[in-house]
Amino acid sequence: MAGKYKVPRGTYDILPSESYKWQFITQKFREIAHLFNYREIITPIFESSGLFERSVGGNSDIVQKEMYKFKDKKGRQFALRPEGTAPVVRSYIENSLQMQPNASKLYYIAPMFRYDRPQKGRYRQFYQYGVENIGSENPAYDAEVIAMGYIFLEKLGLQNFSLEINSIGCSNCSQDYDKALIEYFSQYEAELCKDCRNRLQKNPKRVLDCKVPTCRKIAQNAPSMLDYLDEDCQNHFEKVQKYLQEMNIPFTVNPKIVRGLDYYTQTAFEFLNNNLGAQNAVCGGGRYNGLFQQLGGQNTPAIGFAGGMERLILSMENEGLSFGEEPHPQAFVVALGDEAKEFSLSLVHKLRNEKIATDTSYEKNSLKAQMKAADKSNALYCLILGDDELKTDTVTIKNMKTGEQKQIPLATLVQAIKQRTLV
Ligand code: AMP
Repeated sequence: MAGKYKVPRGTYDILPSESYKWQFITQKFREIAHLFNYREIITPIFESSGLFERSVGGNSDIVQKEMYKFKDKKGRQFALRPEGTAPVVRSYIENSLQMQPNASKLYYIAPMFRYDRPQKGRYRQFYQYGVENIGSENPAYDAEVIAMGYIFLEKLGLQNFSLEINSIGCSNCSQDYDKALIEYFSQYEAELCKDCRNRLQKNPKRVLDCKVPTCRKIAQNAPSMLDYLDEDCQNHFEKVQKYLQEMNIPFTVNPKIVRGLDYYTQTAFEFLNNNLGAQNAVCGGGRYNGLFQQLGGQNTPAIGFAGGMERLILSMENEGLSFGEEPHPQAFVVALGDEAKEFSLSLVHKLRNEKIATDTSYEKNSLKAQMKAADKSNALYCLILGDDELKTDTVTIKNMKTGEQKQIPLATLVQAIKQRTLV
């Protein structure tokens, strides 16, 4: 049956048959975040659009083409959040989180919105898991944040991923580098795609990141940022690499990684899964030492990453990995006759109070229909209540896997299910 409305293009429903995968991944991410002593921060889905225009950058694709902007009834200009870092920084400054204990290591799991051309692994509403480590320039934190991303992917069981890192320097190194890039790409200006021709003067580093084959080819021989790093940035990058090596985290240096957002400085990194096709970045991040000041805060260095949930699920499915068990009840109550039906209400309630996940079907009457429902529910045990059981204060318990069954006193039921000592 086709309804009158459809899900908006580029968005999708997470259906009950899929949602347990999301729960599995978010739970694993929370475990890792807590292992590293990160705390969750939850910010609104929309913010003043100026926040992103200032931070992500007026020349970035996100701000130029992809933001969902709207005015509220009072004419204030808002945007659906296209990324998670700027809101976290906004909140950190607004709430003076530097004064609070345990507020410098933050994580989030949240939907993001970008008006982009939908394709496999690219949506208009997508979910990101991310972390921000705020307040230090120490390269040990760069290594820690990268290690966190690595351990997360590894713990999910992913095999086919690689880590690429780069340093994009600071504004000091960028001046000369941008000049060199403009000079290099200008020779090929006519061959660059339209977007890159536009970017060339304003944001030449983004040309390095373009996915259009001709631009990619031209970018292959472009000057490398690594040759333009000043001493501080070079030392910083060397230390990050040394710490990663000490933690046995394999990586390659890829001077083409620039990231699409304007606020990055120094370390930039991506986790890639080459089985995913064009949208192969599962997680990306970097340092953003200038962002706090840009948004009116104190000079506060920071580093973080964000990864896409959809691409993670695709990667895990490609590798045939497990998302844990689909949720199912432990017990399903089958009641035969009016009296048993009525009694089943309190039995189900009692079992749930005992933390035993239980279901039943109040409207189905025949044994056959109820047994079918029990089977479909994937319950471990079926509990059958009929006249005989009611009379003798017992219940018949059936193991749905083995088919074995026996009649036991009701008084021992809870313990028996909890200890699984029965059939
Ligand atoms: P970014 O915020 O652009 O650095 O992206 C970080 C991560 O979010 C990427 O590595 C992707 O995994 C994911 N991502 C970004 N844009 C999308 C999108 N439109 N649809 C799905 N995932 C995305």
